[in-house]
Amino acid sequence: MQFTDFTLDARLQRAINTAGYEMPTPIQVKTIPLALSGQDIIGTAQTGTGKTAAFVLPILQHLLGKQVRPSRTRALIVTPTRELAEQINTAIQQLARFTNIRSASVYGGVGMGPQEQAFRQGVDIIVACPGRLLDHIEHGKTLDGVEVLVLDEADRMLDMGFLPDVRRILRHLPRERQSMLFSATFAPELHSLSAGMLRKPARVDVGNGQPPRRIAHALYPISQHLKTSLTLALLKQSNAYSALVFTRTKHRADRVARQIKQAGYTVATLHSNKSQNQRQQALNGFRSGKIHILVATDIAARGLDIATVTHVINYDIPDTPDAYIHRIGRTGRVEREGDAMTLVTAEDNAMIRDIERALGKSIERRTVTDFDYAASAPERQDAPYTSQQGKRSGSREFEYARRSPRDSGRPSTRNTTAPAPVTPVRQTETQQDEQPRRPARVPNGSWRKPQRRFAHR
Ligand code: AMP
Repeated sequence: MQFTDFTLDARLQRAINTAGYEMPTPIQVKTIPLALSGQDIIGTAQTGTGKTAAFVLPILQHLLGKQVRPSRTRALIVTPTRELAEQINTAIQQLARFTNIRSASVYGGVGMGPQEQAFRQGVDIIVACPGRLLDHIEHGKTLDGVEVLVLDEADRMLDMGFLPDVRRILRHLPRERQSMLFSATFAPELHSLSAGMLRKPARVDVGNGQPPRRIAHALYPISQHLKTSLTLALLKQSNAYSALVFTRTKHRADRVARQIKQAGYTVATLHSNKSQNQRQQALNGFRSGKIHILVATDIAARGLDIATVTHVINYDIPDTPDAYIHRIGRTGRVEREGDAMTLVTAEDNAMIRDIERALGKSIERRTVTDFDYAASAPERQDAPYTSQQGKRSGSREFEYARRSPRDSGRPSTRNTTAPAPVTPVRQTETQQDEQPRRPARVPNGSWRKPQRRFAHR
């Protein structure tokens, strides 16, 4: 199938050509005709599949096809994170470049002023995060002109505790509208949400929540105190051009980033303690290739489209199999190849089993040859960093980084498939930093889905 088969407006076809899209992706083949016909849609699709254009192109076609009085918002896209909102808005602007359709993004962490102006002037499409959108609604902004609604990454909204906000937003929209809901997975709560918001939806399934196939998964058993050295060894041996390193906590992201930087890489961090400006700068630097390593908490795991990510390193195993799939989905995007490396300690065995069950296969265990698995633990590895520490040349944190294989002049490392010894490490109080490791077990033995708010990440 070709894009021309969709008989889109010539201005959209021109933008598609300019974007360099030659063929529609599978989700576009399935979604675009249904959406163009005005049907409600429930889609199981992960990002990296061309999902955004699959709903943006029909929205643009709809807006171009019917003239209405200006200065009202006719399409609303609700998405969980600010970065995703920006990304979707950029995609809209790219595909609408030859039209006069206007869009704006609306999210917290930045001033209300420009967003209020966008509402006042009546942009055609608003891409919003739920909390800030509700603020605007409470300040009297109306959404009574919305003809098309998209709820993107609905499972992530559920995880972040946004569903009550989403329900409240729905009450402010006209009943007569087209709605599309996309999610990588469907928990029972999402079934009841979709039953309330969609009318006779058509189902579109692409990938069934499975990660792209061109990703090589590997587990690296390691003691907790050697994770940073091993991360540096993996970065070195894999010649990673563009790697995303995931940590469980913000504090740990900052610490690991400092240690990677100390080893000579260009690094940035992405987590919710950073201002929106810093977050955007980090992403821009990473996208442009100026920054090679981005150390992030799960805030970056969903949906971010950074085409060049070659490696995802899970410094800490994620909390759920879903989170694993989303994290590693940042690499191997749109037919590219990628490596997903997960550092695991003896405590992670239960989660490894859950992840392998979700993937439907076991993941290869690897060791790094010539890596000193017997190295002893530095004291207070996770102790909060102070500027004083940074200045002390003898700081253990920096000694630790210098002891890494990258700096040690050892011969280069290579992979083997032999199982690594895993020594359970008793963590000191300072090592058990910030976050609970994973959701509590519920009595029936399954993991309870975390209901975290965005602000905690
Ligand atoms: P998404 O899944 O929407 O985040 O899209 C992932 C990436 O695929 C984005 O960089 C899009 O620009 C790109 N993309 C979307 N549709 C196509 C297509 N038909 N051909 C090639 N790339 C595409």
